[in-house]
Amino acid sequence: MSFPNVDRKRRALITGGAGFLGSHLCDRFLAEGWEVVCMDNLITGDLRNIEHLTGRADFRFLHQDVTEFIHVSGPLDAVLHFASPASPIDYLELPIQTLKVGSLGTHKALGLARAKNARFLLASTSECYGDPLVHPQREDYWGNVNPVGPRGVYDEAKRFAEAMTMAYQRFHKLETRIVRIFNTYGPRMRLNDGRALPAFMSQALRGEPITVFGDGSQTRSFCYCDDLVEGIWRLLHSNEPLPTNIGNPHEMTILEFARKVRELTGSKSEIVHKPLPVDDPKVRQPDIGKARRVLGWEPKVPLEVGLSRTLEYFRTRIARGEEVR
Ligand code: UDP
Repeated sequence: MSFPNVDRKRRALITGGAGFLGSHLCDRFLAEGWEVVCMDNLITGDLRNIEHLTGRADFRFLHQDVTEFIHVSGPLDAVLHFASPASPIDYLELPIQTLKVGSLGTHKALGLARAKNARFLLASTSECYGDPLVHPQREDYWGNVNPVGPRGVYDEAKRFAEAMTMAYQRFHKLETRIVRIFNTYGPRMRLNDGRALPAFMSQALRGEPITVFGDGSQTRSFCYCDDLVEGIWRLLHSNEPLPTNIGNPHEMTILEFARKVRELTGSKSEIVHKPLPVDDPKVRQPDIGKARRVLGWEPKVPLEVGLSRTLEYFRTRIARGEEVR
């Protein structure tokens, strides 16, 4: 569903725009000829992700917390709510902020979209499925989430965010979209965010032991960021208000993934095992039948290609002596 014609450039607000995915979205919208307002409180975002955009007339950065009252002057055609801590280590360190940005932040972002008559897109997550009892996960599966475990702060905030988004759609007739994002990787992931890929790559590059949690038989399915951004772009332009999975269905065990990263880096790091975090999902794989059908979308970037591009980024960061855990 295309946007109504306007006699100016279209304008999007991207919350969390200085984060990993948010900054790739800023790039995409600018490349499509939109103006972008990027909002971030920089607790997990990083100005280096958007430094190449500063000074552009069509780009504006607002250092602001989306859980407070947010004001954006001028028109907005789309609001994309991507602000949130997004790694299991972040949830442990920032549990209240994680809950607040998913709940209060979503409410503020929805309120702003309504005031501006803008289309709203929520970054939701495969974590809505928790430790899934249905495999692969289809959008009509309601999930198996532990509300009071350490990951509950993220899972429940995002489930609330979905409910709030649907309420604005049904009650206020706001145009809304919900993307359920599965594991995604690529340049601009934080080196020290503790997720599998940044952990494995920086360990391999520094010749340190690669830490696989548990026996490594748990599975994930990794999607390259450019594929994800394409799916989000299509979803925003579609007519689909109900949650839509976007991710790569290519599933593998974490041990296989660790070996793949080690092989690609040419590292001699040994693989060591550490305790499995509480409530770590045993399996995860998106059913993307709906995205294929409704959006004509599927991932295109093979794992080896995506990993090589990511490796180049991590090599540069580590060579510059930038932060590693
Ligand atoms: N993992 C691991 N070693 C690490 C970091 C993560 O074995 O240093 C595992 C983690 O336990 C999980 C999988 O890799 O099973 C993916 O973890 P990540 O934190 O990337 O995201 P999740 O999919 O759990 O949200």
